[in-house]
Amino acid sequence: MKRSDLIQQLDDSSQVWDIIVIGGGATGLGIAVDAASRGYRTLLLEQADFAEGTSSRSTKLIHGGVRYLRNGEIGLVRDSLRERGRLMENAPHLVHRLPLVVPGYHWWEPPYYSIGLKLYDLLAGRLGIGGSHIVCPDDLLRRMPNLKRAKLRGGALYYDGQFDDARLAIALARTAVKYGACVLNHLGVVALDKTDGKVTGIVATDHLTGREYRARGRAIISATGVFSDATRRLDEPEAPPLIAPSQGIHLVVDRSFLGGETGLLVPATDDGRVLFAIPWHNRLLLGTTDTPGVAPTLHPKPLEEEISYLLQHAARYLEKPPQRSDIKAAFAGLRPLVKPAEGSGNTAAISRDHTILLSDSGLITIAGGKWTTYRHMAEDAVDHAAKVAGLSPAPCVTKNLKLDELSEALSLAKADLSLKKTIHPELPYSRADVLAAIRHEMPATLDDVLSRRTRCAILDEAASREIAPGVAALMAKELGKPGGWATEQVEDFTNKLTLPEPGA
Ligand SMILES: Cc1cc2nc3c(=O)[nH]c(=O)nc-3n(C[C@H](O)[C@H](O)[C@H](O)COP(=O)(O)OP(=O)(O)OC[C@H]3O[C@@H](n4cnc5c(N)ncnc54)[C@H](O)[C@@H]3O)c2cc1C
Repeated sequence: MKRSDLIQQLDDSSQVWDIIVIGGGATGLGIAVDAASRGYRTLLLEQADFAEGTSSRSTKLIHGGVRYLRNGEIGLVRDSLRERGRLMENAPHLVHRLPLVVPGYHWWEPPYYSIGLKLYDLLAGRLGIGGSHIVCPDDLLRRMPNLKRAKLRGGALYYDGQFDDARLAIALARTAVKYGACVLNHLGVVALDKTDGKVTGIVATDHLTGREYRARGRAIISATGVFSDATRRLDEPEAPPLIAPSQGIHLVVDRSFLGGETGLLVPATDDGRVLFAIPWHNRLLLGTTDTPGVAPTLHPKPLEEEISYLLQHAARYLEKPPQRSDIKAAFAGLRPLVKPAEGSGNTAAISRDHTILLSDSGLITIAGGKWTTYRHMAEDAVDHAAKVAGLSPAPCVTKNLKLDELSEALSLAKADLSLKKTIHPELPYSRADVLAAIRHEMPATLDDVLSRRTRCAILDEAASREIAPGVAALMAKELGKPGGWATEQVEDFTNKLTLPEPGA
């Protein structure tokens, strides 16, 4: 997957794409895979890096959403559980099964939660990934040695999927390219072309060179997440707001703050939010929050009150709770929630289902949903686009479509044993991982490599600062960049980090 090769396909602006997708997060990339694998000529343009928005900032669960059962959203949970099962079959190298426990500190809690989880098991049907059951306090403490012991009555254990969101995004981009799509990062759509009142193309700027491109398409789909309203206004300047962004943050601490391989889920904290403590890449993710009324932005930052909230609530469930100084990294993401018809101030209550809109000029907007349901969302969007644009009908094939395996790092390490060495003792990546990402996964910036091809920046900010100059120099050499480029990249990357520089 080489950007310099793919971008040449834009040189001929007279060719007409069947489907142009604006936005390279979970939704847009899913659409590109779906459309290309049906045989449609597909172009995807992402203004930043693939998954640089919300899609690299999730809780990293492929799940039905236990808490949506509480809201009575049975259909959404059932559909999500089906998608969970399919994705585990289609990308076993990217999604694995994670045991999670809902702890109980009153006698009635383990059986009560267990009943809800039996319904969860049932809804998964033949795509289930393991039955839920009650666990006694001793078993629970073996699984989570740092769980609060006093008055612990046991818990209800169930299974969901866990993944690396940005890595899945890259696998989708590569799969789309394998099926013939042209997918490009760092190319932002700045205007829509219209003929007789109908959208017929896009104008985009390459953020790496400043060059402008035009492309014509039979169907244009906006999958721009929290930026959907801005994209709709390129079409209809007076379009009313559709999206109510809600911020959620995660703190990353040493995994010993829970211990073991099992995740913790507290279904309702004081204010009705869900609290997760999840082992991931040898760290523990503590999340999340639900802060409404935030403005759309690509790099949201955790708010002070969100950090305090998570630390306070984690302390209620952990024997030795993490302190501020234990935070190794923190990240925020914006949920692209679609506003309910009558409007509601409470984003935790807004459905996580997706919405498709068709404007008078033919622009298709898809928004809402979640990572877990990206495939189903893509199927709906492409079905819609094919009808609107009168494309020759072609069935969706993604239910059983295997996603691309990312195996170049292994071959590199086999060929040169020195590349097996880790890039930093605190980070789970080898030199081969970094080199393979630079050569085969289309990163254009240091942040692309350290935040999304590897997850260094959200695993350990201090360690990432240490390796940044070396990785930037390697990128400059591999990509043939001029002197000074590496230094600029390091500055830009460290500006995006969340925690203050140690000793600053
Ligand atoms: C805190 C949090 C936790 C979550 N946890 C989970 C979870 O555990 N499991 C789950 O299933 N879901 C989870 N979600 C939901 C999931 O992450 C999102 O639903 C999903 O990532 C949204 O993807 P998207 O592609 O619609 O949006 P985005 O990822 O935001 O992608 C939209 C893209 O469009 C691009 N774009 C915008 N304007 C333009 C333009 N003019 N030209 C080109 N590109 C443009 C943006 O740069 C962006 O990359 C979570 C969300 C949050 C915030």
